[in-house]
Amino acid sequence: MVRSISGSLDDEETGTTAKFDLRSLHGFVGGDLSRVPYLSPFGALLRLARLNQFTRTDFYAAFDIRLVSSEDLAKVLAFSERRLDSFSVAIGVDAGQREGWKFNEWLPFHGDVPDSRSRWEVRACIPCLREGFHTWLFQMPWTTRCPWHGTPLNRACPNCGRSFALSFKQGAQLLRCECGIDFFDRRVALRADASHNNARDSALAAYLAWAKDSRTKRRLICPLIGSESGNVLIGLANAPSGIAAAERPPSQRFRSEGRRALSVDARHELMLLSSQVEAETGTVLEVPLEWVPPLRAIATGIARHVPPGTLFPVEAEQSIAEGAISAGSNSEHVDMLYLPVQTTGEKAYVYGNCIPRPSLVALNHLLLATEFSWHDEISASHVFRAAQALVLRAYADGLRILLDRYIAALHSHPRLQPWEHVPWIVVTAEADRVSAIHIEWTRERADHLHPSPSRPSQ
Ligand SMILES: [Zn+2]
Ligand SMILES: [Zn+2]
Repeated sequence: MVRSISGSLDDEETGTTAKFDLRSLHGFVGGDLSRVPYLSPFGALLRLARLNQFTRTDFYAAFDIRLVSSEDLAKVLAFSERRLDSFSVAIGVDAGQREGWKFNEWLPFHGDVPDSRSRWEVRACIPCLREGFHTWLFQMPWTTRCPWHGTPLNRACPNCGRSFALSFKQGAQLLRCECGIDFFDRRVALRADASHNNARDSALAAYLAWAKDSRTKRRLICPLIGSESGNVLIGLANAPSGIAAAERPPSQRFRSEGRRALSVDARHELMLLSSQVEAETGTVLEVPLEWVPPLRAIATGIARHVPPGTLFPVEAEQSIAEGAISAGSNSEHVDMLYLPVQTTGEKAYVYGNCIPRPSLVALNHLLLATEFSWHDEISASHVFRAAQALVLRAYADGLRILLDRYIAALHSHPRLQPWEHVPWIVVTAEADRVSAIHIEWTRERADHLHPSPSRPSQ
């Protein structure tokens, strides 16, 4: 259905009449979205709602979208395929054909979708909002500025601090904040409608092409539990600097990008690890002998900081490092027997209670996701090194968490606090070979992850 709206648009404030050839598709002013490629469905809704003066209560009638009052409009359009489909049909967009319409097209990974679902916040560029423009690129954690205006993205009204989402939810005109600021400018929007923004269009096309190519090679393995993923995703995405220059604080990371094969039989070791973590029995984990020295170095480093006169006698450092702890007759401390790495003959073991479960699950997912490549020595060595990095860090966390249960003094010791590092992994693979593995860890309070029922009351 195409009809033209005859006449002109009167500007209420200046009394001037703007000269626009208004055409509407599907009955909406501004409904011809072909002039605004890469607009997100949320942006389309903003523009159409404001140009046609619909409020939230009209959305079902106008756009075929039903919303529960607490729902975030942008989040619904990003993650509810069904509602995105009905909205697309209502405004005459072919969701399968329009490039950049779906949220997932902006992600540079395949595999799990990052937990932006739980940490969702609408982010927008104020100059872009004047014309009702929003792109899914703004929702990527690695995008901190509008690539063509250069302005930082906002999550809230810069005047009063109310979040954009709040004013959307309260049923007022979209983009009109309760403090009185209206971010939308009808004239700017209509003028933008009449011309193409070539710089913006080509920047977004380049980003989408990069993300699409990256998605064919890179797989993201998200952790089992929710964690603050923003910073790690910025590091893992490694987005092109032109479009998404982002500053980030340094974090714990592992990068395996070398091309050297290992002297150990990495494939054999990976198969052994895989059979254990898949079963999730978790009593003991047999680890490659090569890992014993670094595991013992971790144990020694931690034991050295245990205050004298607490649970451990002076020889704590030595005992924990050499694999024998005397727990004495105190059966409450029986866990402590299992802290050190145990070796018998040609085998080495770490007790399962020293490895926090999210890391074991991540290890399992890493092994499952790379199994296809282990026939190749270099691929297997990448995976072996990544598995080692996961287990070493998890062991250090596990030791601190266990010690914390028995030694109250550790709780305030900066190097011994029971933090847990939660891994996010990106595997880069092409043609059945793994060429790189990157891991970034978020740091979570272990108390929060594992409310510990066995912690003695003090
Ligand atoms: Zn902008
Ligand atoms: Zn405001």
